Amino acid sequence: MKMILLGPPGAGKGTQAEILGRRLGIPVISTGNMLRAAVKSLTPVGLKAKSYMDAGELVPDEVIIEMTNERLGEPDCAGGYILDGMPRTLAQARALEETGVEFDVALSIEITDAEIAARMTGRRSCPDCGAVYHVESNPPKSAGVCDECGSELVTRGDDKPETVKNRLAVYHRETEPLKEFYRERGKLKTADNVPGVEAVTAVILRTLGI
Ligand code: AMP
Repeated sequence: MKMILLGPPGAGKGTQAEILGRRLGIPVISTGNMLRAAVKSLTPVGLKAKSYMDAGELVPDEVIIEMTNERLGEPDCAGGYILDGMPRTLAQARALEETGVEFDVALSIEITDAEIAARMTGRRSCPDCGAVYHVESNPPKSAGVCDECGSELVTRGDDKPETVKNRLAVYHRETEPLKEFYRERGKLKTADNVPGVEAVTAVILRTLGI
């Protein structure tokens, strides 16, 4: 299964990608997590990406395309993968297509801007392994501590309300047109957001027919 997850920031792509990845036994390739790791370890990609990320802007296509192509060439991707957060522009989608990769599905999580704004304030993320929680709808077992690796959870800098507003504007302008791109190719499926992480997973599994 080669799947693309689409949807605005805060739609739950990261959370659902992890659940689906475990269920299907395939890796999740999250460009956001890869970039955050690169920023943390001060790699050349990280140094280039940081100012864009802090402002809620997109990192330049060529950086993302090179980073993703490298990652998809690794052996664990041979049996399929879930792409979370890439492509985010038509140029990225075309670049993926040019590599000859055939995707099975582009799944879009549908959620309104108002729902996003409300949920982003409660989001907590693990700076070490990238796991994502929500103080109300998906809390960790122990408050403020990552279930997966025990690190202290943080509010991401780009989850601040002003930055979220910009990220949503960028989503509508740059990423939403990808739905049409994949619809034209017969690959688009949509899953409506519903309350609760498990309920969303159930909607997605039904949509995918698995
Ligand atoms: P995410 O964790 O997917 O919300 O990504 C966090 C930030 O990383 C985004 O707001 C962008 O600045 C950057 N980013 C992640 N993926 C991409 C991408 N495919 N293209 C451009 N920028 C990206």
